[in-house]
Amino acid sequence: MERDLNQASHGGPPAPGSVRVRAAVLREMGLSMPYAQSKPLAIEWVDVAPPGPGEVQVKVRAAGLCHSDLSAINGDRPWAMPIVIGHEAAAEVVALGAGVSDLAIGDHVVLIFRANCGSCPSCAVGRPALCGPGGEANASGTILGGYRRLRAVGNPGINGEQAGPLYHHLGCSAFAEMATVSRRSCVKIDPSLSWEEAALFGCAVLTGAGAVFNTAKMEAGTSAAVVGLGGVGFSSLMAAAACSARSLVAVDMLPAKLDLARELGASHTFLASDPDVIAKVKEATGGGVDYAFEMAGNVRALELAYRITARGGTTVTAGLPNPAAKWELQAVSLIAEERTLKGSYVGSCVPSRDVPRFVSMYQAGRLPVNRMLSERIRLEDINEALDRLHTGQSIRQVIMMDQA
Ligand SMILES: [Zn+2]
Ligand SMILES: [Zn+2]
Repeated sequence: MERDLNQASHGGPPAPGSVRVRAAVLREMGLSMPYAQSKPLAIEWVDVAPPGPGEVQVKVRAAGLCHSDLSAINGDRPWAMPIVIGHEAAAEVVALGAGVSDLAIGDHVVLIFRANCGSCPSCAVGRPALCGPGGEANASGTILGGYRRLRAVGNPGINGEQAGPLYHHLGCSAFAEMATVSRRSCVKIDPSLSWEEAALFGCAVLTGAGAVFNTAKMEAGTSAAVVGLGGVGFSSLMAAAACSARSLVAVDMLPAKLDLARELGASHTFLASDPDVIAKVKEATGGGVDYAFEMAGNVRALELAYRITARGGTTVTAGLPNPAAKWELQAVSLIAEERTLKGSYVGSCVPSRDVPRFVSMYQAGRLPVNRMLSERIRLEDINEALDRLHTGQSIRQVIMMDQA
């Protein structure tokens, strides 16, 4: 793509203060697979507005592909469109809006997919993953504060690209060379971390390790199981291993992922398709696990996780099934077996506390999250990467923006 030609031909120059960059724009959900052919994401020129008060502009350096991106594309979790998706990223601060005094140009940050306002009732009790204004902004496709800072330049010659405002994805819109985000969507990180490693902490590690340490508050020497081994599930597995799990069970559809799970500390692994998987987990763990983590995003996985949880145990679900999905629970089991069932969003994390904490654990060798990294790709190869994400053959593919 020729930068100068496009700028000259379409949409005129960027508005004063805006920067013109390439971004992956989703204009229609539910396109057929393979995505390498239907190309749901088009690489378009977009203008990123300068940061307003309390906002920062960042140069995205690495962005991971997560199943939540796939669910935006296949329509499992629909968003307002057109939208620039992407919510797991590491970035460099390039401009500060008015009033931002605790970040500097050049700082390395991880983007957080639920901005926290710091003052709503949820933030006030230390549960920023439930921030009210943060949730409203995400639901309406804006950044915190209600603004949209993205505008398509438009190119009628290519797939009907229309000029006009674009929606933000989870306050980040990270599949772009630049982003303007709320200061409250950023956590500063150790700059010695590589960009692709850092990106993982924005969603996979925050969600997966947070579910173990914060939501479950898993105790050392207990037993655990993880159902569904994507980036989030592997992060949970590593966190449970860091809790010195007595036995650590991994369940997935793919044998290759079970192999990696064993390398990362799983003591028992089972294929989800095994018709006897529940009985086998119970036998291997003496009646079920103390903590079971559903990280696959469907009700069958949740049912499995619940049924392999021991009496008195805790089932944590973080996989985000389709909003229409319902689950039939044997209600009396909650009482007679004193079960706990907990949802976990953003790993129940306080990002400014937990991102540095998990980074330190990684640097100490306690959470080897770099083992999840698979392909490093270019932005323009994103549709092919979506196919690999769907089939599960890749765990965490990361877009390296500088390679574009
Ligand atoms: Zn994610
Ligand atoms: Zn809040």
